[in-house]
Amino acid sequence: MYKLKVNRDKCIACGMCALECNALHEDSTGKVEVVGEGIISDSQVAKVRNIVELCPENALSLTEEFVDMSAKISELKSKMKTPLKFTPPATDEYEFSMDDRDRYAEDLYRGSSLSVSDEYEFDYKSSSSAQSAGERAFRDEIYSQAEALAQQVIVMYEQRKMNRVARYAETSGNYKYGVHQRLIKNLRGFVNELESYTGKKISLPSDFFTFRTRDTEYINNRQETSNDWLADSIKNHLESASEFYSCVKTDKTSEYVTVSSWFGSDKEKLVYKYAYYIDGDKLKRFYRHVARATWKAGKYTKKFCERELDAFHKAIEQEWLGKIDYLLRQTGVEGIKKNWNGEYQL
Ligand code: SF4
Repeated sequence: MYKLKVNRDKCIACGMCALECNALHEDSTGKVEVVGEGIISDSQVAKVRNIVELCPENALSLTEEFVDMSAKISELKSKMKTPLKFTPPATDEYEFSMDDRDRYAEDLYRGSSLSVSDEYEFDYKSSSSAQSAGERAFRDEIYSQAEALAQQVIVMYEQRKMNRVARYAETSGNYKYGVHQRLIKNLRGFVNELESYTGKKISLPSDFFTFRTRDTEYINNRQETSNDWLADSIKNHLESASEFYSCVKTDKTSEYVTVSSWFGSDKEKLVYKYAYYIDGDKLKRFYRHVARATWKAGKYTKKFCERELDAFHKAIEQEWLGKIDYLLRQTGVEGIKKNWNGEYQL
């Protein structure tokens, strides 16, 4: 086996060699250095020797060295496990926190139509009948929407936090996409190294540098189960409608009306009329409770993301090992063993 070396003290950065030889590359100063260990396969030796001879400063040398191939391969095999060390995002990047809970409650409030406030008309004969009408309206038009509002909280949480970590998206900053990119880079390096050690061109399927593991079944099933869970969660964690009746307020106005008497003479009479309205500031408490009911259920907190990431890591580890197994077998080396379950085992 041949190894290419550079004496960087002699190199004058003329750039003649790096253009012609893949085993060399220029650093930021223009001087060249070898790529990896500088191992040159037998098929490349003649070409590289030519380049070495053309160096005007005799800075390049090609020497024949004994390389313990099986030691190199087993070294490479253990190096192949390193990319499987995953560093998942910190939990505060995807946890549904107390701050989120308050922010989502505020957003629900801002986005609400508060249709019952349209009833602010002086139609009721007493304060208590206006109050009862307001409570009914609150129950029918606001409280009954608790489940839909909780859905909105979850959508906000997923869009702003959870999906960036748990869902696959081809965009920088997306965790799963980042894992793909890192593994692809490592895989290319291993193919180059194996080809150098064995001197063989490895034939690879066209999709070899593509990783298919994206979202797992775990996250894909989440959408289907969330509605059942929500109904139960709201029941368990939301206080009854009457707990929020303090947001219903009554108001009063008066006017003089003409009343005809039995004897035909008209009289002015002072009449009071009552209305109800929903106090926005007090209503905020209800939105906070919806957000809290969602948060309390815990299904959308860090535990969920952690399970999804575990499932993703497990799936992508198998995909990675499958590719490594293919590479090793192509070079005539024993591949990676599978367990009774048909999974690759390190
Ligand atoms: S040909 Fe020689 S001097 Fe020129 S860049 Fe390469 S090593 Fe350096």
